[in-house]
Parts: sequence; structure tokens; C-alpha cells
Amino acid sequence: MESINVPETYGSLVFSDTVMKERLPKDVYKTVSKCATTGTHLEADVANTVAAVMKNWAVEHGATHYTHWFQPMTGLTAEKHDSFIDPCPNGTVIMEFSGKELIKGEPDASSFPSGGLRATFEARGYTAWDPSSPAFIKDGTLYIPTAFCSYGGEALDKKTPLLRSMDALSKQAVKILNLLGAKDVTHVDTTVGAEQEYFLIDKDLYLKRKDLLMTGRTLLGAAAPKGQEMEDHYFGVLKPKVSSYMHDLDQELWKLGVPAKTKHNEVAPSQHELAPVFETANVAVDHNQLTMEIMKKVADKHNFACLLHEKPFEGVNGSGKHNNWSIVTNTGINLLDPGKTPDQNTYFLVFLLATIAAVDEYQDLMRASVATAGNDHRLGANEAPPAVISIFVGDELAKVLKSIENGTAFKSTGKTEMGLANVLPHILQDTTDRNRTSPFAFTGNKFEFRMPGSSLSVADPNIVLNTAVAEELSKFYEQLKDVPADQLDDAITELLKKTLDDHKRILFNGNGYTDEWIEEAEKRGLENLKALPDAIPTLLKDKNVALFEKHAIFTKAEVESRYEIFLENYNKTIHIESLTMQEMVRKDFTAGLIAYIKDVTCEALKKKQLFPDLKVSYEEKIIKTLDEAEDVINTALEKLAEDTKKAEEISDEAEASRFYHETILTDMEELRKGVDSAEAIIPENYLPYPTYGEMLFSL
Ligand code: ADP
Ligand code: MG
Repeated sequence: MESINVPETYGSLVFSDTVMKERLPKDVYKTVSKCATTGTHLEADVANTVAAVMKNWAVEHGATHYTHWFQPMTGLTAEKHDSFIDPCPNGTVIMEFSGKELIKGEPDASSFPSGGLRATFEARGYTAWDPSSPAFIKDGTLYIPTAFCSYGGEALDKKTPLLRSMDALSKQAVKILNLLGAKDVTHVDTTVGAEQEYFLIDKDLYLKRKDLLMTGRTLLGAAAPKGQEMEDHYFGVLKPKVSSYMHDLDQELWKLGVPAKTKHNEVAPSQHELAPVFETANVAVDHNQLTMEIMKKVADKHNFACLLHEKPFEGVNGSGKHNNWSIVTNTGINLLDPGKTPDQNTYFLVFLLATIAAVDEYQDLMRASVATAGNDHRLGANEAPPAVISIFVGDELAKVLKSIENGTAFKSTGKTEMGLANVLPHILQDTTDRNRTSPFAFTGNKFEFRMPGSSLSVADPNIVLNTAVAEELSKFYEQLKDVPADQLDDAITELLKKTLDDHKRILFNGNGYTDEWIEEAEKRGLENLKALPDAIPTLLKDKNVALFEKHAIFTKAEVESRYEIFLENYNKTIHIESLTMQEMVRKDFTAGLIAYIKDVTCEALKKKQLFPDLKVSYEEKIIKTLDEAEDVINTALEKLAEDTKKAEEISDEAEASRFYHETILTDMEELRKGVDSAEAIIPENYLPYPTYGEMLFSL
């Protein structure tokens, strides 16, 4: 393995703050920095200066093109490359890049999902530079992170609402912090660290699986003799080929300024994880998108395929993406860190209770924010949190909350100022983090949302989380703003107690994988939105639309567009899965099955010809079993084909999603059972595709 000088190469392809400071005139640098934190507009002359400096830097680093890089509602990233060249009359070219080109792009928006937002006659959309996320060079192109909107100003992407939600949270957090005495706080940032799980399999095997190619997951395949029951993979020794892949991956990510930090084997065979150091939410989201892309690219070089689907293989764990989340002030205080002073403890409790209230009140939105066809296979399957949202706070914090509830937290000190410093023990990170069954867990100085699937853009859950917490903080502020200073402590105490009373049903420290918990949760009135068709319609609830409108995250039309797109995406995904499965069974698997039955039958007949007394009982058994399987497969295949045609006829997306969930997925399960039971007794040389054993254990 080639070793590099990490501090030197780290961020070498990033137009970072340091590069800007070095290269931009002082006043221009100041303006840009300010614009990056406050989101203000750049004047044309400033933009021109920045663009010229950026272009020179990019060209020095081998770039010939630039692109406005954006995140349409597909959840993927999009890019269109333009070169810097500007031909001169004498036949030569110069490299040009204007401020206007930096700030605004006008891609044709008509082929991106808009959920009805963009009228078809208005195909144009525009991209707008997001100076808070640094530009970088990849494959000879300067990538400029941008937001993507329609000409009417509606958000057609995931970045715009994320930035809006960070603003909303900052606004509300600053108001309440100023009220609580933190006068020097002018801004807060949300911080995110997204732990990314993935599978690596041999590329040649991958290319032989139509299901992996078309849908990202295996639709067929009998279990291998071994799965994850030996518990020998998690944190196990990295195999040399995998280790070499991870080494390359780190180097590529570091060059792009992505702070990849931890790498290890995960629970399932061939499953791994990469965790970065946390960053500002918006940069963390961009970097996670880049991470997923680079993971695939580096895999290709190593003759691997990197699978980011939530459930590539039945019978072993799927992949998630834990979203670690906190809030930090411009003065450097992590608001979810209990801290050492009474002031910091008060902030902590206020933000903790606001988060608890937010997650309880908007549990439906939290669930909806992670709903995808792929993730439905994980949630509630005893490998990932259940579909019911609850919060784990750990024993020590539970004690603190109990004392708030009982009103003993504050009285026992007998002091005039709040005695929180005395009652709030130092929360040990290690004692809080070990309940892996909780969807939303307090882990010492941050919350970890464990429901997102591995391929999700974490913009979605963070938009909901930021907005919901902003809302609770704004309610807190309303209740405290007119309280005289000498009564503020009592009022805060009262508010925390009341909030806890109202929302304690969401707190649960036990095992989230048990059936008893699901029953208990239902008794507590918590929502159990099992699948996407249950979760997505909650976006349209009045209280949820009102939340987004109040904080200027989404207009009603923007919410409706997301509702449409999520449902449509779900329906299309399962439609493609159904067609792929039908093709694999009809064209490929059946051919292998028939060939094997034929060969066994011929062998048996030959034996009988030679020795009429022979029993050929083994051959008979195989033929009969496979003949039965053939019937099951044929019936199930026809049913799936007919039902899929019915699904195509349903024009209402919500109704279609129910049909896909209830009928098509069930049909697919039936078909799979038949095929897999046959696969288990057919020799590999008759099978049209590699088996689970080969895919999961060949590296
Ligand atoms: P574990 O999940 O094993 O407890 P860590 O606590 O070290 O691991 O962190 C997991 C992830 O949480 C990392 O990506 C880390 O950068 C991120 N993280 C740590 N602190 C914060 C924070 N204040 N805000 C957001 N993410 C954080
Ligand atoms: Mg973790």
C-alpha cells in the first residue's frame, strides 16, 4: 500500500477557507465568509473576483471544467460539466469563469422529479451557489455545491430545505439562549456525523446478478449454509483485499476534505462501516453523498461492487446510516453536552427537553423522513430499530429527568439560583450508548438517529429534526419571554417539568426489538407506521404542513410535491423489482431448473434401461420435488405478472403504494419461496446466477 503524507494531501482538492484566505483580497475574503455564515447575497464584482481566483486555483490543480453540483429530489446528486474555455479569434483559447457562472446556473429542470411543482411549460430551473459548502475538484472538474430551485423559487432539491431548517433552528435557538443569558450567541449550527454501512462483493459475481444490477438487492437466492450466526465478522480482522480497498477509499476521501475517521467490519458477512468526524449538517450531507459515490468508484478499481442498498441479502443484516446530531453555538458550546457550569446545564436541559418534545410531537415526520422501499425491509426486522419511534436516554439521564418530574431537582439545593449543577451528574458517554435497539438514542453529547437507511440522503431526517426542534424552542420562548428576570428560574423549572409530563411517553430505555414493547408503545399512543405507504401520507397532516410553513421550510405545495415523489419512487422501485424478478425467473431460472430436471430424468431412464430392477429413488425424489417446485413457481409467477399489470392501472399514487405493499411484495415473497427452495437442491453449474455463499464469502 502506498503511504502518503496525510496532513499535506488532506483537503488538497478543496477550495477551502484556508485557500480562500490565502488567495482572495482581504475584503473579498471577509465578504465571502460572512455570506457563507449568514447566507447573504454576493455583489457582482465580489463574485467576479472569487470566480477568477477559484478558476485559477482549479486550473493549477488540473481542472478543465466546472459543474454546479446539486441534489435533486431523487436523493442522488446531479452534475453537468462546462469547460472553462473561451475561444479567441486567433484560434487559441483562454480559460474563463465569471461571477455569474459561479453564482447561478440554469440547468433544464424538466427531467428531474418535481412532484408537480414545475409546470411542464416552464422547464427551466436554476442552481445557486452554496458558499457554506466548499467547492472541490474531482476528475478534472471543479465541483460547486449548489441549491436547485424552480423559477418560481420552489425548492426542487434537498439542500434548500436543509439550509432553511438550519436557519430556522439557529433563529429560535439564538432567541432562547439570549433570553437565558447567553447574550454573545448570535448563531448556532447543527452538526451531523453520518456512519455509513455498506457491503462489498466481487464485481464479476455482481455483474452476473440482474437483480443487483437493476434493483440493488437480491430478489432471489437461497440462504448460504453460514450466515452471521458465528458473530465472527463484527470488528473482525480486515481481509487484505478489503483493507487495501479501505486504505484507498480513505485517501480519496481525505483529498476531498471528507474527514473519514473509523473503519471496521460490520455484523453481516462482507458488510463494513465508515464513520466520519462530524461537521456542519449541510457539509456533512454533501460529504456523505460524496462518500457514497467514492465508495462505489474505488470499489470498481478493486474489482468489487459496493452495495449501498438497505437490504441486499435476505437472512443477514441490512445496512443503515446512523445520523449523529447535535447543536453548537458560535461561541463553541455543544448544547447537548451537559457541561460543567450551571449555565451550560440549563442550556442542556432546555435543548434536551425541546428535542424530546420535538421527536414526540413529530414522530410521524421522523418516521416519514426515513421511509424508502429499501428501508422498509430493515425497520422492525430485529436488525434495526422498530418502526415505532422512541427515545433512549440512558439510566443516569433518566434519573435526572425523574428528579425534574418530581420537582426534587431544584428544591434540594436551597439556593436562589438554579441548582442544576449539583443535580446533573456528568453523563458518561459509555454508559449511554449501548442500547442499539433504540431508534433515537442520547449518546453522551449528541443524539443518534438510527433509523435512516444506508442509501438515504441524510438531508431528509435532518430537515425534520431541525425544524421540529426549532418549533419546540419557539414555543419555549413564547412561554418565557415576558417572565420577569427574578422569576425566570422558576419559570424554566416549571416549563421543563410540564414538557416532560407532556412527552414522557416517548422515552423508552428497554429492548426495542421485543413484541411487548410494540404493544406497550401502542398503549402509550405512539405511532407504529410500519411501511412507507403508512408513513408518507402523514406528511400532509395539517399540523405537519403548518410546522413547515411556519418555519418557512416548505410551502404547502412543496410538501405535496415531496409526498407525490416519495410515493411515486416507492411504486416505481417495486414495479422494477417485480419486472426484474419475473424476467430472472421466466428466462433464467426456469431454464436451469428444466435443464437439471431433464438431465436427472435422462440419467434415471438410462439407468433403468441398463438395469430395469434399479430403484433410482434418489433421482425420483429430486424430479418430484423439483416438479412440485415448478408448479409453485409457475403459479406464483403468473400471479405476480397479473397483479403487476393491475398495479400499472392504478393512477392514484397513494392507492398504488398500498397495492404494491400489500399485494406485489407478498406475491414476490411467494415466488421467492418457490425459487429458493428449488435453488437449494440444484447444482451450481445449472444456476444462472451466483449463490449467496459465493457472493458473501468469496472475498
Ligand atoms: P459511537 O457511535 O461508537 O459511540 P462516536 O461517539 O465516536 O461513536 O461517534 C459516532 C459519530 O458521531 C461520529 O461520526 C462522530 O463524529 C459523531 N459525533 C460525535 N460528536 C458529535 C456531535 N457533537 N454532533 C454530531 N455528531 C457527532
Ligand atoms: Mg454510533
